[in-house]
Amino acid sequence: MNEIKQYWQNYIDGEWVDGGAGRIDVIDPATGKTLAQHALADARDVDDAVQAARHLHQSRDWSGLRPVDRGRKVRAMGQYLLHKIDEIAPVLTLEQGKPLWESRVEITGAARYFEYYGNQAETIEGRSIPLGDKYFDFTTYEPYGVSAQIIPWNYPLEMTARSLSAALATGNACVIKSPELTPLSLAWFALAAEAAGLPDGAVNILCGYGRQAGAALAGHTKVNQVVFTGSVPTGIAVAKAAALNVVPCVLELGGKSAAIVHEDANLDSFVDDVRWGIYFNAGQTCSAMSRVIVHDSIHDELVDRIADMAETLSVGPGIDRPKIGANMGAMVSLQQRDRAEIMVTEAIGSGANLATGGRRPKRHVGAFLEPTVLTDVTPDMAIAREEIFGPVLSVLRFQEDEDAIEIANSTQYGLVGGVFTRDLDRATRAAQQMRAGQVFVNEWFAGGVETPFGGFGKSGYGREKGREALWNYVQTKNVAIRLG
Ligand code: NAD
Repeated sequence: MNEIKQYWQNYIDGEWVDGGAGRIDVIDPATGKTLAQHALADARDVDDAVQAARHLHQSRDWSGLRPVDRGRKVRAMGQYLLHKIDEIAPVLTLEQGKPLWESRVEITGAARYFEYYGNQAETIEGRSIPLGDKYFDFTTYEPYGVSAQIIPWNYPLEMTARSLSAALATGNACVIKSPELTPLSLAWFALAAEAAGLPDGAVNILCGYGRQAGAALAGHTKVNQVVFTGSVPTGIAVAKAAALNVVPCVLELGGKSAAIVHEDANLDSFVDDVRWGIYFNAGQTCSAMSRVIVHDSIHDELVDRIADMAETLSVGPGIDRPKIGANMGAMVSLQQRDRAEIMVTEAIGSGANLATGGRRPKRHVGAFLEPTVLTDVTPDMAIAREEIFGPVLSVLRFQEDEDAIEIANSTQYGLVGGVFTRDLDRATRAAQQMRAGQVFVNEWFAGGVETPFGGFGKSGYGREKGREALWNYVQTKNVAIRLG
């Protein structure tokens, strides 16, 4: 039995503290039982955290470090997470629902961000622009100061690590608003900061309701930069709040990403991509492969193969699924499961057909939904346009290449896309024409922490990952010196 601590606090200025808004119950979605309570921050707690971060920034005890030393500390945070993986993984699984092995994948992924951005810390260099003998001019990059980061529940560790590591590496002090459904595992970032010797105020972590603590943070006048990862409506609210303070904002929002599958695609490897693309984390992935657009000539064969694969996945409590394999855990909450289930029912009402899944597995009371495949989906249906954020794949058909691209580009989103073919020209044309921030050719999720990631359209703006993300966290200063 996994015993976990019953009460978890917020972390402000190097201290563990209660929340002004009381406590929230954290629920295990696999059983519906309360796991623990977490302190809930109010606007005053948010203010304390922002002031702590600002104070540290003004002291220059973090931003003024030699970058190699700052980078080593950032890297050490990642090593700490790996060192504690056996402690963190069950907590992440119990609060979020994913299989234990997926939690380990997520923690390893989170640690990788600290390695990558720790290594990048000393690569931010300015340059000198010649202005003739009478001047000496140089351009430098300074951290913004206080970076506010609002985190979703689907990959709480990886999504935090993504912005936190880059913001710290560039010398910012951070205030993190953890997701109210899955706040527990973020405690290890505070412990990692302590273990790595970061100064107090560099990492502040608060759990609170979005409309309360989240809104207070996004609109705080002393925040200098905002990173938001979550849904489109909340992203718009956060961007408005940031705009009122004239601070930059990175928005990493949702998606309805499509894989185009041509008749010459390698179907064995594609079916494996579907398994990861839509059933990893029970489909609660912003860059999930939620649509497959398949050539008419291979439609039936592909649907049969995908349905067979989906039926092999054993669905049940993540904590009982320690080993990588054909299995899937709970969704994050009953509310998310019910929403996905209703969207499937409505799609069937609009003419889609269920190839497999669509039901709650009978053996479990928690937030489970069978791996689901819908066929005869047409681009105008809600199921083809709206993000489900669950283990539900919509299959659409095409005949001409242009039609496939048009369907792929027909939603408001533009996060990622994929094309599966052995024909290089076709793949390249699709990559050029897909309206998406990242295009995968012949492997969904190809790329890594090194490659820039972010959306076109309503999937957001700004880029995370890769060197490109570093520029979110620094502002340019030019110094022009008139020589005597
Ligand atoms: P959400 O928008 O409901 O919440 C995200 C965060 O915003 C939470 O911490 C929440 O408390 C906070 N929040 C809510 N209202 C707020 C407000 N008014 N002001 C400030 N903060 C507020 O999203 P969610 O349901 O937690 O996450 C799912 C969504 O996130 C999906 O749409 C998914 O695609 C998206 N997502 C995107 C990426 C990406 O990198 N593009 C990654 C993960 C998730």
